Amino acid sequence: NRKLLVAGNWKMHGSLAFVDEMMSALRQSLPDQPKYDVAVFPVYIHLYEVINNKPDSVLCGAQNLSEYDNGAVTGEVSAEMLQDLGCDMVLVGHSERRIKNNESNSEVAKKFAQALKFNLTPILCVGESSVQRQGDQTFDVVWDQINTVIEHIGMESLSQGVIAYEPVWAIGTGETASAEQAQEVHQFIRSQLALNDDTIARRIRILYGGSCKGSNAYELFSMPDVDGGLIGGASLTAKDFMAICQQA
Ligand code: 13P
Repeated sequence: NRKLLVAGNWKMHGSLAFVDEMMSALRQSLPDQPKYDVAVFPVYIHLYEVINNKPDSVLCGAQNLSEYDNGAVTGEVSAEMLQDLGCDMVLVGHSERRIKNNESNSEVAKKFAQALKFNLTPILCVGESSVQRQGDQTFDVVWDQINTVIEHIGMESLSQGVIAYEPVWAIGTGETASAEQAQEVHQFIRSQLALNDDTIARRIRILYGGSCKGSNAYELFSMPDVDGGLIGGASLTAKDFMAICQQA
């Protein structure tokens, strides 16, 4: 009975013209009241255009936020500003930021808390590298990423957000985790959470991300602990994105 969420992470792609095309395509193709949630995550400078042109049923989020309140933090964007603009959600701890911007588990936890403080739904991205998977560290890595947030703000706060399991080796590689591989990690996450709080474990949504597309979405979304997808490449055309939404 968890509502599926199909979220498009546009990463550093797009233009104002792209936003307008995508929004009119989604307005034409999405049902008025889909039985699943749909969200898109443009770059900061395109958020306003999305928010002003999106169909009501589509949620909008940023790809990152500052861990700090408004102040002398040149180049960053605060949770309060995102809320003021009309954002609903925000990604935290995407692997590209963990790797390229050295974001640590504790910084990610601070960003998660900051999002909640301004009523934004954080999507906590977690996942192991291929070396970590080969070294049998997948569960340890993923749990450490989640548990740092729990230690920082507690289970009840974690449950206000969404988790996205995105194995780094599956991102942008075309090498999707099999539905069984995804389910194994999703089930692990849920069972670990259940050790703390069974109700929260059953309620929280866990998305899968990593080369998810129209042709594999159905199998992934059919897994009992997979509650939708965080989509990169296949969220960049309305046709590909809709092909995934239709599997939800
Ligand atoms: P791809 O769907 O392009 O593999 O990207 C997944 C991702 O990183 C979404 O956040």
